[in-house]
Amino acid sequence: MSGVDPGRTVVKIEGLHKRFGQNHVLRGIDFSVARGEVVCIIGPSGSGKSTLLRCINLLERPQQGRLEVNGENLLDPDCDIDAARRHIGMVFQQFNLFPHHTALENCIVAPMTVLRLTRAAAEATARANLERVGLADKLGAYPAQLSGGQQQRVAIARALSMEPALMLFDEPTSALDPELVGEVLTAMRQLAEAGMTMIVVTHEMAFAREVADRVVFMDAGTIIEQGPPDSVIGAPREARTQSFLRRVL
Ligand code: ADP
Ligand code: MG
Repeated sequence: MSGVDPGRTVVKIEGLHKRFGQNHVLRGIDFSVARGEVVCIIGPSGSGKSTLLRCINLLERPQQGRLEVNGENLLDPDCDIDAARRHIGMVFQQFNLFPHHTALENCIVAPMTVLRLTRAAAEATARANLERVGLADKLGAYPAQLSGGQQQRVAIARALSMEPALMLFDEPTSALDPELVGEVLTAMRQLAEAGMTMIVVTHEMAFAREVADRVVFMDAGTIIEQGPPDSVIGAPREARTQSFLRRVL
């Protein structure tokens, strides 16, 4: 899985370090993701999972290392970061929808302003993506009229409306009531089956086991072990992975 063909590599990270003041959060991360691959990142709270995701779209700037997305060196001072970011969709634990916009409008703002699509073109894409996440009947609903699970699916549709080459999910179901988790995971599973390249930070071990091509276990800013879910979750080699899994499973 790690022997990825460079032409098919979406993310390539080497020796990545991120510090917040004295806090050395990412301590030399080497990590690649191939096109169409679904990678789940698991690990204890504070291990640097969110920071790693946020570095991948430069919401955080690492101090050291290499970071390529779609063959572009994002740490090159000449890199057009806004342009590079357009190809990276991100879904957060908090849905962050525009509260004064309907579901459909939430999905057309960025395509119209950033990609300069016409309203008609943006709406066509938005409708298709809202349909895809099972919200064809909620186009005109405002976030406050939607459940958390529906809001999160709008957030997924909104990210898809930028036609990203890569989707990042940071604990997308952690803020949801338990009965709403399944509908969001279903939308994500369908996206994975459709071939989307995805990096998912999650505590949903059943989802990781079923959907991930590869599971990465992080602890204290390093990747401790990675591999197919049946190995990392089913038969972890490292003591730290074993003890983490004993706590969460
Ligand atoms: P995880 O997502 O695995 O729980 P995080 O990446 O959120 O871990 O956090 C890793 C460490 O980085 C924590 O010690 C956290 O306090 C610190 N950290 C994260 N973001 C910031 C920030 N913006 N400023 C300062 N410290 C931060
Ligand atoms: Mg986090």
